Amino acid sequence: MVVAIHTSPLLSYSADADFLLTRVLCRVAVPFFFMVTGYFVAGDFFIRRDGAFKKFLRYIKKTAVLYGSAILLYLPVGIYAGHYKELNISSVIRMLLFDGTFYHLWYFPACMIGVALVYLMSISGIKIQVWMVVSGALYLIGLLGDSYFGCIKEGSVLYHIYMQGFQIFSYTRNGLFMAPIFLILGIKIFLGNKFYSESKVSFENKNALKTKKLSGAGMESGKSTQDSLNLLANCIGLTVFGLLMVAEAFTLRHFGVQRHDSMYIMLIPTAIFLMKALLAWQGRSSKFLRNTAMWIYILHPVMIVVVRGAARALHLTGILVDNSLGHYLAVSCFSTIAAVVLSQWTERKKKEDFKCGRAWIELSRSALRQNVTALQKRVPDACKLMPALKADAYGHGAVLIARELADMGVDAFCVASVEEGIELRRHGIKGEILILGYTHPDLFPLLFRYRLSQTVVDFPYAVLLNRYGKKIHVHIGVDTGMHRLGERSENVDRLYNICRMKNLIVDGMYTHLCADDTLKKREMEFTDLQAKVFYKLIKELEERGCPRPKIHLQSSYGIFHYPELAEDYVRVGIALYGVLSTGEDTEKYKDILKPVLSLKARITSVRNLYAGESAGYGLEFQAKKDMKIAALSIGYGDGYPRGLSGGESAVLIEGRRAPVIGRICMDQTIVDVSGIPGVKAGDVAVLIGKSGEEEISVCHLAKETGTITNEILSRMGARLERIVV
Ligand SMILES: *Cc1c(COP(=O)(O)O)cnc(C)c1O
Repeated sequence: MVVAIHTSPLLSYSADADFLLTRVLCRVAVPFFFMVTGYFVAGDFFIRRDGAFKKFLRYIKKTAVLYGSAILLYLPVGIYAGHYKELNISSVIRMLLFDGTFYHLWYFPACMIGVALVYLMSISGIKIQVWMVVSGALYLIGLLGDSYFGCIKEGSVLYHIYMQGFQIFSYTRNGLFMAPIFLILGIKIFLGNKFYSESKVSFENKNALKTKKLSGAGMESGKSTQDSLNLLANCIGLTVFGLLMVAEAFTLRHFGVQRHDSMYIMLIPTAIFLMKALLAWQGRSSKFLRNTAMWIYILHPVMIVVVRGAARALHLTGILVDNSLGHYLAVSCFSTIAAVVLSQWTERKKKEDFKCGRAWIELSRSALRQNVTALQKRVPDACKLMPALKADAYGHGAVLIARELADMGVDAFCVASVEEGIELRRHGIKGEILILGYTHPDLFPLLFRYRLSQTVVDFPYAVLLNRYGKKIHVHIGVDTGMHRLGERSENVDRLYNICRMKNLIVDGMYTHLCADDTLKKREMEFTDLQAKVFYKLIKELEERGCPRPKIHLQSSYGIFHYPELAEDYVRVGIALYGVLSTGEDTEKYKDILKPVLSLKARITSVRNLYAGESAGYGLEFQAKKDMKIAALSIGYGDGYPRGLSGGESAVLIEGRRAPVIGRICMDQTIVDVSGIPGVKAGDVAVLIGKSGEEEISVCHLAKETGTITNEILSRMGARLERIVV
């Protein structure tokens, strides 16, 4: 819309059509942006007193930086175009505060002035309704200087006042007269918004609140009709007032009243209905799109110049410049391409700079790919991997891992909870997502909404799930001896009844082997019995007329120890991440499985420790001789087990071992770097993974702390950054 305003796409065809498009319809763009700023930025001013000033400052700073950069960017263009010929103090102020130093840049100072005014309003203690009236009055003043200017009698006092005003600003569509009303309206909508009123509810019923939050603005069954009606009403409002605005604009134009054409009376209701209608759509926030939009806005006037130059050079002036539509399309294309490239570049740069500041996890894409391929080879073609992404993909980062797997064609996943499933869905993961654990009945709507498959944990649970009333995809859990979840395998009648429940779509049936990791006689007999019982049940149900759903028994160890049990899926977890639960088992398959995760941390400080001094909590470590030690910015709060303290553990720095000394702290760890010359703050320490010829495996950490790799990995902290390399 903004590009259209500056290129007039329809001008070659009809002046009326151009007026309709660029001087009327596209004029909703700027008010809409103001409302969005009100909604997402300034809304907080009115509720969160404490953080409000900081948020305000942050916004002003950010906008000022953008404005400043844009001013510099456009300086050469402006000079070339002769914009800055007659500069004096008042014209510089006028340009900087109101008009912008280039024609489209007025929007930045308008935002800052508007937001500053609104911030002052928020701390005034006066009701927002009063400020709405005030902002409305400011808008009226603006209107009279804009598309209603002709209503003022030439030579009258008012006329002179306006003429004085136009010395200070060339137009009244600026931060003083236009921005406040739309910002306030955005704030008002924010304050009246469902999400906000829900978060105001006391935190007594956390679960219920969570349900509502997760399900967004009313996708739940009861509310959806109400929401559709609201949407319909807003669309009708938008159409009606939009048409009225068109009528208003053409009337004003007909009578030659307009001095400028940015402000109309009907713009206010039109913008309100537009905003409300769009709010019905609860999309996901995308920083990339936001940045791209911003760059399009900043860059499009440069692109107008570029298109002109290119057209002349290519002798295409006819289509690319003289034809208004061709010109518009060319400028839009160029601006979009440049914007996409720039925002991709800045995003990547920021991420890389930022993520490895303190302590982080590096995921090896090639190791993951290799494991997936190797595991797929181990199972028959008809058997698909259903990777276990529970506990944030065993600490690796569920979304990152899921994306990589999806890229490789994996389209079935399992997780432990409904929240984990939703996280994947919200990040665009498609295909089947099976929840292996229990989901509280209050959260059943989320199963439906996010198309998650639920494990039937036993018969009474199936009854509840069926009673919920919507069709839910399920896999029936069968208890063949683990006695954790699943309906007991001998209860064939109950299982048969579950299969026939009218609201359950039975996609699968599975059991879990609980002794498949040990190849000793007792465990092997037990596992065989589990399988036998499970197959017998499937057969009986089939004989009773239940169609055979997808079935699955194996997890990681099952693939290696009981390959004959491969059916439709393998719920593979730990092996996918390149290790098995213990060091010995991992060693056996080290040619097949490659560890995916490395754990790294920054060295934050290097110092001397003299003989006799101690380091760390509890005077636990005492230096026998002079040594050099370093602090690392990682601790047990990040999942580096405290139990490693005082043992044989070490980290790797520059391919050398640096023993851990003293007690591991929550956020920090001290290591001995005496043997490693040249260590300095800012260097990287490897806690799990390779450095030079040396390697520390997660198996080692597990052994040292008396647990299995699964536990060490799944406890990797949320504070760690995760990157794929
Ligand atoms: C965690 C889990 C898996 C995956 O187990 P791994 O041993 O990590 O492969 C499979 N099935 C169920 C039911 C699980 O809970």
